[in-house]
Amino acid sequence: IVRIRGLRKSFGNHVVLNGIDFDVLPSQVVVVIGPSGSGKSTFLRCCNGLEQPEGGTVEICGRTLVQDGRMLPDHDLNALREEVGMVFQSFNLFPHLSVLDNVTLGPRKLRGLSRKDAEERAQALLAKVGLAHKATAMPASLSGGQKQRVAIARALAMEPRVMLFDEPTSALDPELVGEVLQVMKLLASEGMTMMVVTHEMDFAREVGDVVVVMDGGGIIEAGEPATIFTNPTQERTRSFLQAVL
Ligand code: ATP
Ligand code: MG
Repeated sequence: IVRIRGLRKSFGNHVVLNGIDFDVLPSQVVVVIGPSGSGKSTFLRCCNGLEQPEGGTVEICGRTLVQDGRMLPDHDLNALREEVGMVFQSFNLFPHLSVLDNVTLGPRKLRGLSRKDAEERAQALLAKVGLAHKATAMPASLSGGQKQRVAIARALAMEPRVMLFDEPTSALDPELVGEVLQVMKLLASEGMTMMVVTHEMDFAREVGDVVVVMDGGGIIEAGEPATIFTNPTQERTRSFLQAVL
């Protein structure tokens, strides 16, 4: 469902992605780990066109987002972004809109759903993330974990075929991490295709189908969690895991 070949990206003369090849199969959960600055966020952002690579090819949901470093024109890019949901570390809810309006905005504006249909869909998604009772609340009144669950519901409202998560629990107090991971686990069990950058190694081990280890702008190792965590082939993986586990 995602096919990446020779993906390269630099900022100035600093090479951040040095030619990444990777495939994601439908319903796979790919967990991306690696040290700070290794290019994890840039990699994810290249997968939904938030970042323009200067080389390589990115195909997603049967469409070519980037071909030899050239991006799709804007209107096609927007269509593709509707199929690729993204959740960030910093929630990014619209502060002046209620929880319900945050979740209905995309489907109403971009999909042309009626208010009634959008609200029905939103209520079902809020129930799924455990926030049916918060529909009329404003984001400022929510905890970090609740905000992040609203952000997930908002992304799901666009019925994406792939979900990208960039450190979705890193900004949360420790006691709120679990409720967000629980929602992500539910999505995974329903067959959602997901790419997840995280430092939550238990999640990686339990939910990940593939763990990708990045260092210095490249994928140094990828495989099943059991292999990566117990018997990595790369010394750099070993030392990274030692530092975080
Ligand atoms: P972290 O774990 O800290 O989030 P990361 O693996 O996500 O790190 P990236 O955010 O992808 O790393 O950044 C990779 C490198 O690219 C870093 O050296 C960073 O400073 C640089 N970089 C990222 N975005 C930009 C930008 N907009 N302009 C210049 N340099 C950037
Ligand atoms: Mg990052």
